[in-house]
Amino acid sequence: MVSAEVLPSGSDFRISVVVPLYNEEANLETLSQRLLAVLEGLTEDFEIIYVNDGSSDGTPEGIQRWHRRDPRIKGVMLSRNFGHQAAITAGLAFASGDCTVVMDGDLQDRPEEIPRFVELWRQGYDVVYAVRRRRAGVAWWKRLAYAAFYRVQRRVADLPMPLDSGDFALLDGRVVQWLNQFPEPDRFLRGLRTWVGLRQVGLEVDRDARAAGEPKYSFRSLVRLALDGLISFSLKPLRWLLIAGGGLMLAGAAGALAALAAASPWAALAALACTLSGVQLVALGVLGEYVGRSYMNLKGRPVFLVDRLLGLEERSQQVPRHLAFPSPPQRRAA
Ligand code: UDP
Ligand code: MG
Repeated sequence: MVSAEVLPSGSDFRISVVVPLYNEEANLETLSQRLLAVLEGLTEDFEIIYVNDGSSDGTPEGIQRWHRRDPRIKGVMLSRNFGHQAAITAGLAFASGDCTVVMDGDLQDRPEEIPRFVELWRQGYDVVYAVRRRRAGVAWWKRLAYAAFYRVQRRVADLPMPLDSGDFALLDGRVVQWLNQFPEPDRFLRGLRTWVGLRQVGLEVDRDARAAGEPKYSFRSLVRLALDGLISFSLKPLRWLLIAGGGLMLAGAAGALAALAAASPWAALAALACTLSGVQLVALGVLGEYVGRSYMNLKGRPVFLVDRLLGLEERSQQVPRHLAFPSPPQRRAA
């Protein structure tokens, strides 16, 4: 346990809340009001960091309006849509709190839960992550896919990852600083967050239905996220390939012998050939995934680029170069 004197006492601590926003114009008003109400009851020193992830609706203007109304609301405007995980990464790079909360901007994560996270942090936990009790308004097939994914991922990963936990979490300032230094461009934050270690605890929360707008995760981006979760954390899938390949080779040999002994071996042979070429393709695919990722990582591109900052200008120097390049002075409007 952390001793009491190193923990900020009373309401004397700074909290940052990072919210990635991609076309969330319709949610911005309620989100901001609910967040402000909760945070004002919690501490005098807080900031809300909205990350505009290349929205094509009125989200950037909305963030700007809120920033003018209340400078504790700040903005990181990315140069294009980089995706949910990159947007969170961007927010974390600018966060300065003693602790930082990461949450979605569609009100599926309830701002009103934040005090419970903070309570556990005060008790000495460094990572408090939400565990979903139920998913309101989520299609059954998605729910099933999520459940299956978390369980497979737990098997594959070389360290046990908590089940059913998403990105909604509170991170101690130290954890945020470490995460910012991680060089990898594949940022599966729930995994990285677990990898960090220290004292972690799950907190059961209900997840509401999205308040307004459409989910931004397409089927494709969900698959991509799942692959990140499976592949970035272990080389086990490669090992499984070896074992499966070896097993099939033996089975193939046995099948061939059986086919020779049988009077009409052609059907058996054809089936065997089919299976084997399937296995080879899967094997190549998994290998390709690792090779492709190494290639992408070698290129050393940053995770995101910032177009404009609102209320965070003086922190642009603190962002590590592997996350984003420093922005040259902004072009003046004509
Ligand atoms: N989001 C983002 N960039 C993207 C996709 C999503 O910043 O490319 C944000 C989105 O605005 C929301 C959060 O990430 O605040 C979660 O997205 P969504 O609600 O679509 O995900 P789901 O709830 O379906 O997992
Ligand atoms: Mg959502």
